[in-house]
Amino acid sequence: VIHVVSVDIVLRTHPLIRYFNGFLSLFEDVSDTLAFVSGILRLSTKYYVQRLRQQCIDILGRKIPTSFLTFRSRRYSEFSADICFSIINLARETNVPEWLPFMFYLCARLPTNLVLNGTAAAVLSWKDRAICLAGRAKLLHAQRTISYAPFIDIKHSASCENHPTLCASRILETNWINWERQIFVEIFALESHTPISMKHHVCPPCVEYAMLQHREGCEKVWDILPGMFQLGSWEDIWNRQNDDISIMLTSIFSPS
Ligand SMILES: [Zn+2]
Repeated sequence: VIHVVSVDIVLRTHPLIRYFNGFLSLFEDVSDTLAFVSGILRLSTKYYVQRLRQQCIDILGRKIPTSFLTFRSRRYSEFSADICFSIINLARETNVPEWLPFMFYLCARLPTNLVLNGTAAAVLSWKDRAICLAGRAKLLHAQRTISYAPFIDIKHSASCENHPTLCASRILETNWINWERQIFVEIFALESHTPISMKHHVCPPCVEYAMLQHREGCEKVWDILPGMFQLGSWEDIWNRQNDDISIMLTSIFSPS
C-alpha cells in the first residue's frame, strides 16, 4: 500500500501533471492528444490514480464520440488507421471500453488487408482483428436493413404530391444500381446521405419522409453498435468501465 500511495503522490505532484489541464489547449488534433495522454493513462491505471486516470479519459474522450449526438457534431477525417488501432489497443489495456464501438466502426471501414496486417505503428490483437471483420458484416447488414432501408424498401409519404405510386417508382428508376452496389460493399451505416438523384425525381414530402426514417435508422444503428463488436449494450459498457475500476480500488485500499 505504501508503494501505491507513493506513486500516487509522485503522479499528483509531478510538475507536468500540475499543469496538466493547461496543456489541453495545445492539442487540437487527435494524434497529439493520443501521444500526450496514452503514457499517463497507462501509468495512472496501473497505479490506480483514479482522478488522473479520469482526466486522461476525459481529454481523449472529447475526440471520440460515445453518443449519437456527439457523433453527429463533428467530422472524423483525422482518424487514420494508426490512430484507430492505437486507441483500440490503449482502450483494451487501460479498460476504457466506451471508446471501442466507434473505433471499431472506423476500423470496419478500412481495407481488410490493413486490418489484418496493421501498420508500422500499431497492430490489433488477433481477437480484435476477428471482431472487427465480423462486425463489418453485421454493419453492412444493419446498413441495408435499418439505416438505408428507407431508400430500398420505398414508401411514399402520406402527403405525397404525386400519384401514390409515382414517387416510389421514380426512386427505383434513378441511378439505383450504383446506390445498391455501394450499400452492399461500403460502410456508411451511421452517416446521413441523400441520394442526389432522389431530389430531382421525387416530390419534397416523399424526400422528407424517407430522410426522416433514414435519420432515425442511423440512430438505431448507433444504439446497437457495441453489440456488433461483442461489447454488449452501451449500458453494459458504462457498467463494466465503472465496476472494474471500483473493484480495482476496493481490492487495493481495503484492509486485508
Ligand atoms: Zn411523393
